[in-house]
Amino acid sequence: MQKLYEIAVIYGDGIGPEIGSATVQVLKAALKDDNILNFIEYPAGAQCFLDTGIAFPEMTLEGCRRADAILHGAAGLPNVLYPDGTEAGQDFSLNLRFKLDIYANVRYVKAYDGVPMRLVGKRPKDIDYVVMRENTEGLYASRGAGSLLRDKVATDNLIITREGTERIARSAFELARKRKGAPLDGKKRVTVCDKANVLRSYAFFRKVCSDIAKEYPDIELDYCLVDAMVAYLVTCPEYYDVIVVENMFGDIISDLGPATIGGLGLSPTAELGTDVGYFQAAHGSAPDIAGQDLANPVGTILAGALMLEWLGDRNDNDLLLDAANRMRNVVENLYAEKLILTNDLGGSAKTSEVTTAICKALA
Ligand code: NAD
Repeated sequence: MQKLYEIAVIYGDGIGPEIGSATVQVLKAALKDDNILNFIEYPAGAQCFLDTGIAFPEMTLEGCRRADAILHGAAGLPNVLYPDGTEAGQDFSLNLRFKLDIYANVRYVKAYDGVPMRLVGKRPKDIDYVVMRENTEGLYASRGAGSLLRDKVATDNLIITREGTERIARSAFELARKRKGAPLDGKKRVTVCDKANVLRSYAFFRKVCSDIAKEYPDIELDYCLVDAMVAYLVTCPEYYDVIVVENMFGDIISDLGPATIGGLGLSPTAELGTDVGYFQAAHGSAPDIAGQDLANPVGTILAGALMLEWLGDRNDNDLLLDAANRMRNVVENLYAEKLILTNDLGGSAKTSEVTTAICKALA
């Protein structure tokens, strides 16, 4: 008998509900509405905080813990703040990662035929890399625990552990093994991105990654300081295959990446722990375009495909793997024909039209 997988869905704020419900529709179309996924909605985010005083309710954490996978729209509103000035809505993603130990944030940056290139002289086939962002340590580990002294001095600690770095480095090398290498030369390559020239913590991150690299002699090891990295991702993205990076730097470069392929709405993310998968796009809640049918839902839809692939792999379920492939192929074909270009990509397709076109092509 076909297993029913429970998917915890957190729509969140801003465009979150629009792109989240678009993704649920596409997933249902890809699976032909068969009784395979059971979507259960839970509240979290800035609006939830305004309504209840809590941004990440206990029942949402429990629902996520129990589910087979977690699907997220986006959360946070820039004006909904805690007294310390940080955003209440950020509690959901950040604390979920800490509480469920979701340590690998795998962010895909791949350009598509038919989507206007942002980088002069680059072709879509030049950009296809993954940012393997460490998700539970680094500078963000201090969330809620920094100090603020007499309104004069503020501090947050940067945390790098051997264990945390070893596991993210292994994730990067394992992923590089499965990929076909960098677009430039086909070499399977892991680039360690850090600021080892300045801070001891980053020099340690680099050293631990280099130790793990010895287990993977078939993968080329490469280093890049983060300030140079942001330049190279613009001038020479074809050199990159898998980039392993500390939490905050990873957050930053994985927004730069999607901007180079067209827009933030294009890149999907799989956030993985030992037994947990959490899926969303790389971008935020885009309050500037919320509620206007303008958001590009493709990043979240492709995150839905990553979710099916992850569930399919874990459960040996070809139905899910096949649906994931069909979702990706349909998106690729519709882009190639320039049929689902939203405002961010220079087109005029609405969120709802993109969703309908993808569902129709899947039918
Ligand atoms: P953002 O990613 O929401 O938006 C940056 C720019 O990209 C905006 O111009 C926006 O319109 C555009 N954009 C983003 N996603 C798009 C899409 N799918 N289609 C078309 N255009 C899109 O970043 P921001 O403005 O810095 O943050 C807004 C809010 O999102 C903040 O409250 C922030 O804390 C939150 N945030 C949430 C997450 C998350 O939930 N995972 C991640 C990052 C930021």
